[in-house]
Amino acid sequence: MKNIVIFGAPGAGKGTQSDYIVDRYNLNHISTGDLLRKEIADQTPLGIRIKSLMDDGQLVSDDIVIEMMDKAIAADTRGILFDGFPRTVAQAQALDKLLAKHSREVTCMVDLEVPSDELMRRLLERAKIQGRSDDNETTIAHRLEEYRTKTLPVAEYYAAQGKKIVIDGLGSVEDIAHRIRQAIG
Ligand code: ADP
Repeated sequence: MKNIVIFGAPGAGKGTQSDYIVDRYNLNHISTGDLLRKEIADQTPLGIRIKSLMDDGQLVSDDIVIEMMDKAIAADTRGILFDGFPRTVAQAQALDKLLAKHSREVTCMVDLEVPSDELMRRLLERAKIQGRSDDNETTIAHRLEEYRTKTLPVAEYYAAQGKKIVIDGLGSVEDIAHRIRQAIG
Protein backbone atom coordinates (compact mmCIF):
# COMPACT_ATOMS: atom_id res chain seq x y z
CA MET A 1 0.00 0.00 0.00
CA LYS A 2 1.54 3.29 -1.10
CA ASN A 3 1.65 6.30 1.22
CA ILE A 4 2.98 9.23 -0.75
CA VAL A 5 3.66 12.75 0.50
CA ILE A 6 3.40 15.54 -2.07
CA PHE A 7 5.48 18.50 -1.03
CA GLY A 8 6.16 22.01 -2.31
CA ALA A 9 5.63 25.70 -1.63
CA PRO A 10 2.18 27.29 -1.87
CA GLY A 11 1.55 27.57 -5.61
CA ALA A 12 3.91 24.74 -6.56
CA GLY A 13 1.04 22.75 -8.06
CA LYS A 14 0.47 20.12 -5.37
CA GLY A 15 -3.29 20.07 -5.81
CA THR A 16 -3.13 19.70 -9.60
CA GLN A 17 -0.53 16.95 -9.57
CA SER A 18 -2.30 15.19 -6.71
CA ASP A 19 -5.25 14.48 -9.02
CA TYR A 20 -2.97 12.61 -11.43
CA ILE A 21 -1.17 10.66 -8.71
CA VAL A 22 -4.30 9.45 -6.91
CA ASP A 23 -5.77 8.36 -10.23
CA ARG A 24 -2.75 6.38 -11.25
CA TYR A 25 -2.09 4.62 -7.94
CA ASN A 26 -5.70 4.46 -6.74
CA LEU A 27 -5.01 6.38 -3.57
CA ASN A 28 -7.15 8.40 -1.18
CA HIS A 29 -6.37 12.09 -1.64
CA ILE A 30 -6.12 13.70 1.77
CA SER A 31 -5.57 17.46 1.70
CA THR A 32 -5.33 19.18 5.08
CA GLY A 33 -6.09 22.52 3.37
CA ASP A 34 -9.36 21.10 1.96
CA LEU A 35 -10.31 19.49 5.29
CA LEU A 36 -9.65 22.74 7.16
CA ARG A 37 -11.56 24.84 4.59
CA LYS A 38 -14.52 22.46 4.97
CA GLU A 39 -14.52 23.02 8.76
CA ILE A 40 -14.66 26.77 8.07
CA ALA A 41 -17.42 26.46 5.44
CA ASP A 42 -19.48 24.27 7.83
CA GLN A 43 -18.86 26.78 10.64
CA THR A 44 -17.89 24.05 13.08
CA PRO A 45 -16.33 25.12 16.43
CA LEU A 46 -12.93 24.24 14.97
CA GLY A 47 -13.68 26.14 11.76
CA ILE A 48 -14.65 29.26 13.68
CA ARG A 49 -11.44 29.02 15.73
CA ILE A 50 -9.07 28.69 12.74
CA LYS A 51 -10.63 31.03 10.18
CA SER A 52 -8.70 34.24 10.98
CA LEU A 53 -5.45 32.31 11.34
CA MET A 54 -5.84 30.72 7.92
CA ASP A 55 -6.98 33.96 6.28
CA ASP A 56 -3.79 35.50 7.62
CA GLY A 57 -1.63 32.77 6.07
CA GLN A 58 -0.46 31.22 9.33
CA LEU A 59 -0.26 27.50 10.04
CA VAL A 60 -2.92 25.81 12.13
CA SER A 61 -1.48 24.12 15.25
CA ASP A 62 0.19 20.73 14.90
CA ASP A 63 -2.20 19.07 17.41
CA ILE A 64 -5.24 19.93 15.30
CA VAL A 65 -3.93 18.62 11.99
CA ILE A 66 -2.30 15.55 13.55
CA GLU A 67 -5.62 14.54 15.10
CA MET A 68 -7.35 14.98 11.72
CA MET A 69 -4.74 12.76 10.08
CA ASP A 70 -5.02 10.12 12.80
CA LYS A 71 -8.69 9.71 11.89
CA ALA A 72 -8.06 9.80 8.16
CA ILE A 73 -5.38 7.11 8.33
CA ALA A 74 -7.49 4.87 10.56
CA ALA A 75 -10.34 5.06 8.02
CA ASP A 76 -8.16 4.34 4.96
CA THR A 77 -7.90 0.96 3.26
CA ARG A 78 -6.27 1.91 -0.09
CA GLY A 79 -3.16 3.97 0.54
CA ILE A 80 -2.98 7.73 0.87
CA LEU A 81 -1.62 10.74 -0.94
CA PHE A 82 -0.85 13.33 1.73
CA ASP A 83 -1.26 16.87 0.35
CA GLY A 84 -0.39 19.80 2.62
CA PHE A 85 0.81 17.50 5.39
CA PRO A 86 3.33 17.24 7.00
CA ARG A 87 4.10 20.97 7.08
CA THR A 88 6.39 20.95 10.12
CA VAL A 89 9.04 18.50 11.31
CA ALA A 90 6.85 17.72 14.35
CA GLN A 91 4.05 16.73 11.93
CA ALA A 92 6.47 14.55 9.94
CA GLN A 93 7.52 12.72 13.11
CA ALA A 94 3.88 12.31 14.12
CA LEU A 95 3.02 10.93 10.67
CA ASP A 96 5.68 8.22 11.02
CA LYS A 97 4.14 7.19 14.36
CA LEU A 98 0.55 7.27 13.06
CA LEU A 99 1.43 5.08 10.08
CA ALA A 100 3.50 2.70 12.23
CA LYS A 101 0.36 2.01 14.34
CA HIS A 102 -1.06 0.42 11.19
CA SER A 103 2.24 -1.22 10.14
CA ARG A 104 2.58 1.30 7.32
CA GLU A 105 5.20 3.86 6.39
CA VAL A 106 5.81 6.76 4.02
CA THR A 107 6.77 5.30 0.64
CA CYS A 108 8.30 8.47 -0.77
CA MET A 109 8.04 12.25 -0.77
CA VAL A 110 7.60 14.06 -4.08
CA ASP A 111 9.15 17.53 -3.83
CA LEU A 112 7.80 19.87 -6.53
CA GLU A 113 10.36 22.63 -7.02
CA VAL A 114 9.30 26.00 -8.47
CA PRO A 115 11.24 29.32 -8.30
CA SER A 116 9.70 31.93 -5.98
CA ASP A 117 8.88 34.57 -8.63
CA GLU A 118 6.85 31.95 -10.50
CA LEU A 119 5.09 30.92 -7.23
CA MET A 120 3.96 34.49 -6.61
CA ARG A 121 2.75 34.82 -10.20
CA ARG A 122 0.68 31.61 -10.00
CA LEU A 123 -0.84 32.48 -6.61
CA LEU A 124 -1.93 35.92 -7.74
CA GLU A 125 -3.40 34.38 -10.90
CA ARG A 126 -5.33 31.83 -8.81
CA ALA A 127 -6.55 34.66 -6.58
CA LYS A 128 -8.18 36.27 -9.62
CA ILE A 129 -9.81 33.06 -10.81
CA GLN A 130 -10.87 31.23 -7.64
CA GLY A 131 -11.11 34.06 -5.12
CA ARG A 132 -9.73 31.95 -2.28
CA SER A 133 -9.74 34.19 0.79
CA ASP A 134 -6.07 33.47 1.55
CA ASP A 135 -4.83 34.36 -1.95
CA ASN A 136 -3.90 38.04 -1.65
CA GLU A 137 -0.46 39.63 -1.67
CA THR A 138 -0.06 40.09 2.12
CA THR A 139 -1.33 36.63 2.97
CA ILE A 140 0.74 35.03 0.23
CA ALA A 141 3.87 36.67 1.64
CA HIS A 142 2.99 35.18 5.08
CA ARG A 143 2.41 31.75 3.62
CA LEU A 144 5.72 31.77 1.76
CA GLU A 145 7.45 32.89 4.97
CA GLU A 146 5.78 30.09 7.01
CA TYR A 147 6.87 27.71 4.26
CA ARG A 148 10.50 28.84 4.36
CA THR A 149 10.87 28.77 8.13
CA LYS A 150 8.66 25.86 9.23
CA THR A 151 8.01 23.64 6.22
CA LEU A 152 11.29 23.53 4.27
CA PRO A 153 13.01 21.55 7.07
CA VAL A 154 10.51 18.75 6.34
CA ALA A 155 12.29 18.19 3.00
CA GLU A 156 15.52 17.53 4.90
CA TYR A 157 13.70 15.11 7.19
CA TYR A 158 12.75 12.92 4.21
CA ALA A 159 16.06 13.42 2.42
CA ALA A 160 17.80 11.99 5.49
CA GLN A 161 15.61 8.87 5.13
CA GLY A 162 16.43 8.62 1.42
CA LYS A 163 12.74 9.21 0.57
CA LYS A 164 12.88 12.61 -1.13
CA ILE A 165 12.32 12.72 -4.89
CA VAL A 166 12.91 16.14 -6.47
CA ILE A 167 10.71 17.05 -9.44
CA ASP A 168 11.11 20.13 -11.62
CA GLY A 169 7.73 21.88 -11.23
CA LEU A 170 8.09 24.12 -14.30
CA GLY A 171 6.45 23.17 -17.59
CA SER A 172 3.06 21.89 -18.68
CA VAL A 173 0.83 20.03 -16.22
CA GLU A 174 1.17 16.85 -18.35
CA ASP A 175 4.97 17.09 -18.52
CA ILE A 176 5.22 17.40 -14.77
CA ALA A 177 2.79 14.52 -14.24
CA HIS A 178 4.96 12.43 -16.57
CA ARG A 179 8.12 13.26 -14.60
CA ILE A 180 6.41 12.22 -11.37
CA ARG A 181 5.22 8.93 -12.90
CA GLN A 182 8.73 8.14 -14.12
CA ALA A 183 10.19 8.90 -10.71
CA ILE A 184 7.69 6.91 -8.62
CA GLY A 185 7.62 3.99 -11.05
P1 ADP B 1 -1.32 26.15 -0.13
O1 ADP B 1 -0.35 25.03 -0.07
O2 ADP B 1 -1.70 26.51 -1.53
O3 ADP B 1 -0.91 27.35 0.67
P2 ADP B 1 -3.32 24.59 1.39
O4 ADP B 1 -4.68 24.46 0.87
O5 ADP B 1 -2.47 23.38 1.44
O6 ADP B 1 -2.68 25.74 0.51
O7 ADP B 1 -3.36 25.22 2.86
C1 ADP B 1 -4.04 26.42 3.15
C2 ADP B 1 -3.86 26.81 4.63
O8 ADP B 1 -4.36 25.74 5.47
C3 ADP B 1 -2.44 27.03 5.11
O9 ADP B 1 -1.95 28.32 4.83
C4 ADP B 1 -2.59 26.76 6.62
O10 ADP B 1 -3.16 27.85 7.28
C5 ADP B 1 -3.60 25.62 6.68
N1 ADP B 1 -2.94 24.28 6.69
C6 ADP B 1 -3.04 23.33 5.70
N2 ADP B 1 -2.33 22.23 6.02
C7 ADP B 1 -1.75 22.49 7.23
C8 ADP B 1 -0.89 21.76 8.08
N3 ADP B 1 -0.44 20.53 7.78
N4 ADP B 1 -0.49 22.33 9.26
C9 ADP B 1 -0.90 23.54 9.59
N5 ADP B 1 -1.72 24.30 8.84
C10 ADP B 1 -2.14 23.80 7.67
